[in-house]
Amino acid sequence: ALSGGELGPEQEGLVIAHYGTQVAIESAPGVSQRCHIRANIDGLVTGDRVVWCEGEPTGVVVAQLERNSVLCRPDPYGKLKAVAANIDQIMVVIAPYPEPHANLVDRYLVAAEVVGIEPVIVINKQDLLAQDPALREQMAALTAVYPGLGYKVLYTANNEAGLAGLQEALRERTSVFVGQSGVGKSSLVNALLPEAALRVGALSENRQKGTHTTTTAQLFHLDCGGSLIDSPGIREFGLWHMSKQEVEQGFREFRPCLGLCKFRDCRHEQEPGCAILDAVEEGRITASRLDSYRHIVSTLEASG
Ligand code: GDP
Ligand code: ZN
Repeated sequence: ALSGGELGPEQEGLVIAHYGTQVAIESAPGVSQRCHIRANIDGLVTGDRVVWCEGEPTGVVVAQLERNSVLCRPDPYGKLKAVAANIDQIMVVIAPYPEPHANLVDRYLVAAEVVGIEPVIVINKQDLLAQDPALREQMAALTAVYPGLGYKVLYTANNEAGLAGLQEALRERTSVFVGQSGVGKSSLVNALLPEAALRVGALSENRQKGTHTTTTAQLFHLDCGGSLIDSPGIREFGLWHMSKQEVEQGFREFRPCLGLCKFRDCRHEQEPGCAILDAVEEGRITASRLDSYRHIVSTLEASG
């Protein structure tokens, strides 16, 4: 056993939760320890890989390892702040109810492109589609454009058959669920989490002490393999402000056209020599995606 102030050897670990000045580090599957963070390490978030040492009563994180990706959101002053690291995919959940809109789906996809994390379109509540051919047709039409753009589209529901394909897609990855309120994210997350995750000791212990912030992200391992990072803040990913340049870049099929319009500040409305309009004309860009782009840009202008 270690005595006061003494530290164990350095080892690698994963940040699975964050509590103010401390983090919970997983050192081996299912084994976690509270750690303080060395003062020279700034902005550790859930999903970060670290080097840490055991200690009494808490361990110490001594180094932060490189990230593959980081999910950021702007703070109230517009400054980007990391909320989770090493995420491989963003599950963009939509459902027949609440009714999805193409421009909202595109907004999530654009936000995913901006952070450079692969999005997957998850059409949830498949049971409702199975009962209603017209609804099914509508959903198919709304999402028809995406596979051709390289986006994976999955049908899911909160039942055994509906979860199977989802579990397959989550395997070997670290994923987050995002999407409008009411599409079924909580139901999916609860159905996916193993029993043990629902009684994460560290979390409830801290909640009693009143130091737990419910907005903190937690990492969970799934029985199907793969991990989930979840928090209320993460579920709202994609709905905050983006710049016009980010939106343009985020429509991945627009990229070959960018910079080729005759006017440098082209709005792709009806300007002559617009490379985007030409691409729509020639079928390289779908008109509905251009509509979506215009809609998203108009909301940016409205909000300043
Ligand atoms: P969230 O706001 O995205 O977390 O959505 P919830 O998980 O709270 O679900 C919103 C509503 O949709 C609830 O009334 C759920 O019972 C319902 N719901 C969730 N999943 C399904 C599903 O697969 N099929 C159907 N028909 N309803 C679902
Ligand atoms: Zn243009």
